[in-house]
Amino acid sequence: MNPPDRGQNWIGGAWSDSVSGQQLERRNPADHADLLGAAPLSTRAEMRAGIAAARQALPGWRATPAPRRGEFLFAWKRLLELKKDELARLITREEGKTLAEAAGEIQRGLNIVEYIAGEARRMSGETLPSELPANFIYTLRQPLGVVGLITPWNFPAAIPLWKLAPALVCGNTVVWKPSELTPFSSQFLARSLAEAGLPAGVVNLVHGRGQEAGDELVTHPDVAAISFTGSNAAGTAIYTRAAAGLKKVQCEMGGKNAVVVLEDADLELAAGHIIAGAFGSSGQRCTATSRLIVVEAAADRLLRLLLERIQSLKIGNGAEAGVQVGPIVSEAQYQRVLDYIQTGRTEARLCCGGQPYRENGCGNGWFIAPTVFDEVSVEARIAQEEIFGPVLPMLRVPDFEAALKAANQVKFGLAGSIFTRDVNRAFAAAERFECGMLHINSPTVGGEAHVPFGGIKATGVGERETGSTAIDFYSEIKVIYVDYTGQKRTGSLY
Ligand code: NAD
Repeated sequence: MNPPDRGQNWIGGAWSDSVSGQQLERRNPADHADLLGAAPLSTRAEMRAGIAAARQALPGWRATPAPRRGEFLFAWKRLLELKKDELARLITREEGKTLAEAAGEIQRGLNIVEYIAGEARRMSGETLPSELPANFIYTLRQPLGVVGLITPWNFPAAIPLWKLAPALVCGNTVVWKPSELTPFSSQFLARSLAEAGLPAGVVNLVHGRGQEAGDELVTHPDVAAISFTGSNAAGTAIYTRAAAGLKKVQCEMGGKNAVVVLEDADLELAAGHIIAGAFGSSGQRCTATSRLIVVEAAADRLLRLLLERIQSLKIGNGAEAGVQVGPIVSEAQYQRVLDYIQTGRTEARLCCGGQPYRENGCGNGWFIAPTVFDEVSVEARIAQEEIFGPVLPMLRVPDFEAALKAANQVKFGLAGSIFTRDVNRAFAAAERFECGMLHINSPTVGGEAHVPFGGIKATGVGERETGSTAIDFYSEIKVIYVDYTGQKRTGSLY
């Protein structure tokens, strides 16, 4: 077991202990005896110090040519590649996902850093013709200023990487408030920025609670933009409070992602992907498969295939070889998932799981057995609310139209998926499924580095993350009108 680490803030290039005197311990969710360390719950004043440091570093970073900023990102990526295994082990220990899942999320993050670093040489605007002779117009991309990044625990590497890289390449300076549950993975990334040679104050890491340190970031007048990923409740509050200060805001929030399975689907294929989507990362992915909507004609056979596969899933400490399902991240989340399972027992028919998992050395962690409910109604709470655990509600519907209607009958709109061999219905679903990302014959999870990521309805507001839209969020367009006639303009001006 590694010795406990000390959580510190990184402000203006210096590591410091918080003066708040309040700390939060972080223990391995697979083994409560394993203490990672304690991280500070910083004060509002400490957050203000982070913002001041970012403000001070802004002129220098903004004046650094974009291709040089891109070179920094390439160097950072090379460094992180060398540290990938170490970071994966830390994420598994701190967040609980398996080593393969941790390595996968780091790789996805690194792909995004690479893509965004390349964008540094394409930080271009437009040239436009003018209505006037001897005039022309062009546009510039400029940084927003100090940007605030607020991140969740469930992707402690990928999400910070996909926010930090575009924020930096566009010339902004950053204050980053990570989740209280993953302070050490966040600190690892901040240390790597320092090691890669980022100038002091360009990124500042301030640990703390959302309601205090986070709220200071969201409401501070020197912060031009907020990029938030997390729950719907927090995102709604943040969106409102940041908008009151006329900040640019991007909130990516919860999901209730449906897989639709039609009667003509390859059910073996669908079953494998549903298992991966629902129980991978213990169901703690924003894009996790959290509703299965199946046409009645295929329902019994699909359920049989799912239950067979669930029996052979290996549950345990994600650091052990072969483990496929790790623990729930924290006691609070564990309790919340068990409460939903209790609700599910009153709303539907339990097919498997439904309880804590304590076998195979899992007695000392927050483990829950993969759970499936059948005969779930569209209105049931377990079909409407984000559970964020290894729980799959199954809804039976008569046909394709009913399946689409049920899929859209939720407030969220992140990811969706449909399994069918019918090209007409696949394209009809592409048109009508209310989500930001639809997968055809593949799971609800996953995305590529150069592709926009995000949702609609109660899931997402503001520009999409990753892909070219990330550059749009982290930059402003300035328009320059050039008149090279050297003469006073005559006629009307609009
Ligand atoms: P959370 O909302 O509890 O916390 C996220 C972050 O926001 C944390 O850093 C927290 O401290 C901070 N925060 C909370 N309240 C705040 C406030 N009032 N002001 C400022 N900051 C505040 O979410 P979580 O439990 O860490 O993450 C899980 C949630 O994230 C799930 O709902 C999941 O669906 C969502 N998520 C969404 C996406 C996406 O891209 N749509 C990706 C990953 C996770």
